[in-house]
Amino acid sequence: MRRSYKDSRAPLAGFLEDQAAVADGLLSLYEATFDPRWLDEVRDLVREMLAAFWDEDAAAFFDTAKDQEQLVVRPQDVTDNAIPSGTSLAVDVLLRAGLLLGEPSWTDRARLTLERLAPTAAKAPLAFGRLLAALDFHLGRVVELADRVDIYEHSQHPYTKALLSSIPVPDPLVERDREPLLIKGEIPSPVNPPSGCRFHTRCPIARVPGICSEVEPELEPHGHRDQEAACHFAGEA
Ligand code: SF4
Repeated sequence: MRRSYKDSRAPLAGFLEDQAAVADGLLSLYEATFDPRWLDEVRDLVREMLAAFWDEDAAAFFDTAKDQEQLVVRPQDVTDNAIPSGTSLAVDVLLRAGLLLGEPSWTDRARLTLERLAPTAAKAPLAFGRLLAALDFHLGRVVELADRVDIYEHSQHPYTKALLSSIPVPDPLVERDREPLLIKGEIPSPVNPPSGCRFHTRCPIARVPGICSEVEPELEPHGHRDQEAACHFAGEA
């Protein structure tokens, strides 16, 4: 990958942020379209990114590739600004792509980076916005698994239903009369989640006190074919 292009010339090699940002965009494209060719592109890009910018001994990403011009110090800017740092983008991509492509070693590298930067991010959180968003994703749980048709047409988990209900309908007459399923209340701390089901403080059908606040639901078969949901009352919302 090249950093810039003009008049048929692309003199500069790409940096970590270039590689990670393109992988991030392709991953978002896959998430929006479910077209597997974007995921194939992401797989190749992530492998190249790890080979060029990840240093196994330092357990860290560097901004320049291993085969780029040798500098006095190999740069490693980890702070997020108007543009996120290459490290934050790479961590975010590794977490999402690692889950989608079943690559636990990618998730492990992202976790190592998060653990290393956590003390600094705790002191200056405003300088690590994108990294903290990736951490929030990492601390969350998968609550429903289904193919793209079932997730839209037969969602089982109340949280999935609420998320889908928040998408506006592109028809003003339908949208005017529609009543979206609203989730009320504050998002609980992912570091200190509530007992039982993490969603029980905001779930519109929670049985509290009762099983929802006492027993954490596991992913189990519900709905169609290979569909799974982590909810004691899946399908009831
Ligand atoms: S387990 Fe209970 S609180 Fe959790 S999503 Fe299901 S109904 Fe809601």
